[in-house]
Amino acid sequence: MHEHDFDGDAWSLDTLAVRAGHVRSAEQEHSEPIFATSSFVYGSAAEAARKFAGEEPGNIYSRFTNPTVRVFEERLAALEGGERCVATSSGMAAILATALGLLEAGDEIVASRSLFGSTVSLFSKYLGKFGITTRYVELGNLDEWQAAITPDTKLLFAETPSNPLSEVVDIAALAEIAHRHGAWLAIDNCFLTPALQRPLELGADLVIHSATKYLDGQGRAIGGAVVGADRELEELFGVVRTCGPCMSPFNAWIFLKGLETLGLRMRAHCESALALAQWLEAHPAVARVHYSGLKSHPQHALARAQQTGFGAVLGVEIAGGREGAWSVIDATRLMSITGNLGDAKTTITHPATTTHGRLSDEQKVASGISEGLIRIAVGLEGLADLKADLARGLDRLA
Ligand SMILES: *Cc1c(COP(=O)(O)O)cnc(C)c1O
Repeated sequence: MHEHDFDGDAWSLDTLAVRAGHVRSAEQEHSEPIFATSSFVYGSAAEAARKFAGEEPGNIYSRFTNPTVRVFEERLAALEGGERCVATSSGMAAILATALGLLEAGDEIVASRSLFGSTVSLFSKYLGKFGITTRYVELGNLDEWQAAITPDTKLLFAETPSNPLSEVVDIAALAEIAHRHGAWLAIDNCFLTPALQRPLELGADLVIHSATKYLDGQGRAIGGAVVGADRELEELFGVVRTCGPCMSPFNAWIFLKGLETLGLRMRAHCESALALAQWLEAHPAVARVHYSGLKSHPQHALARAQQTGFGAVLGVEIAGGREGAWSVIDATRLMSITGNLGDAKTTITHPATTTHGRLSDEQKVASGISEGLIRIAVGLEGLADLKADLARGLDRLA
């Protein structure tokens, strides 16, 4: 029988994204099947007893393991270069499982200030209720990270590049700081995906994903995952298996189909984003473009060194404050006005009044979220159409 030898070390990312993880069933199917089943049966009472006792591997119940979900987990683990992956019901569930699996009351987290809004609520409001404290520091300032660490710090958590200003942190240097203090470093790799950045290779211990974004890439389903070493991932698996935030087989199948085109899509996203960023930077109605792929970005060299691409999220400061920003957004006819990103469809938002609306005026100033800032998550439509869509509003302001 013809079987592909699985060789995760030798295959390129594009090959792993298409092939890794699928072991054909007896039906010899070509495409990954959806195992839509909540439970699994045993050949005998004795086999059931052995499986429940953990003496024999195998599926028991889809909250624990499911073959379609396992293919997704193995494929993403191969792409990130991790020993093991645990899939979750959402990106937030991936972060929750990490905290529940690795931390206890009295432990501390140090996190970058510019985080996904729900991550801040999860850390400060919900983990706070259980005696876990979080301190926030400026993403790129390693001295601040260092100074915030105490003997109780167990987890360093960063999103790099940041949303929407494209700030980055030196992952290798941050991993070194974490390990010197016996803490784990978790990187939320949602904005770049393993196609553009592999944090584990740079020394991070855990990679967090919202599969909802670029892993799917077409805005169809909510899911998440954590990738890392067996020791930590076994703890996270225990949380998902017991507490229940597992990925559904149907969503795992959607993400598998998304992953097949990950490399291709990310290259196209990056190419359009850079071209659009350069064009916007030259437009008279634009005060500034924040994108780590631009030479004008203060951390361009670091981004170049640790990433193989710059992603597709642009922060664009429009002259004329909120009024100017809103008029550009409202003049679009093609882009979707929505807070989501990581989609083939380009999205446009005004962070100060949506994703970052919870921040006080002082916090907005400190985080660089000005009233004139718009965020564009560049999709896969024709570049000329995207330019024309923005030019309609921008030309009126110039
Ligand atoms: C969307 C997002 C999350 C949360 O993921 P969900 O799938 O929406 O739960 C976490 N981190 C980042 C950077 C995100 O963009």
